[in-house]
Amino acid sequence: MSEKTIFQKIIDREIPAELLHEDAFCVAFRDIQPQAPVHVLIVPKKLIRRVGEAVAEDRETLGALLLAAGVVAEKLGVRSTDKGFRLVINHGRDGGESVPHLHVHLLAGRELGWPPG
Ligand code: AMP
Repeated sequence: MSEKTIFQKIIDREIPAELLHEDAFCVAFRDIQPQAPVHVLIVPKKLIRRVGEAVAEDRETLGALLLAAGVVAEKLGVRSTDKGFRLVINHGRDGGESVPHLHVHLLAGRELGWPPG
């Protein structure tokens, strides 16, 4: 079996992290290297390596990640449309993935440029 990812260790409480949200499917905590005033990672408890490798049975988990994003955005005061937020999922090298455990980045608190870098 491959070694646990850093996110699995957070989920298993082997590494401390302040959880902003937890439900049956996922946890959310702040990114250690924030790219915006609000930068939260939403991570499924089930180890799905990356979004493009999810399978049909992951449908409920994938939906839960987006629902959790709304909950976290509300909790942090950025859900209203006059503020707002962006969700990002990086897949693979060109996508900028560095941790092989699916996670949704929630970025907010400043105006985010488009197209992204
Ligand atoms: P990605 O590049 O999409 O795979 O994103 C991985 C993210 O995990 C990066 O933004 C890192 O800053 C973040 N990260 C790595 N280790 C930790 C940690 N221990 N706690 C919180 N965030 C982390």
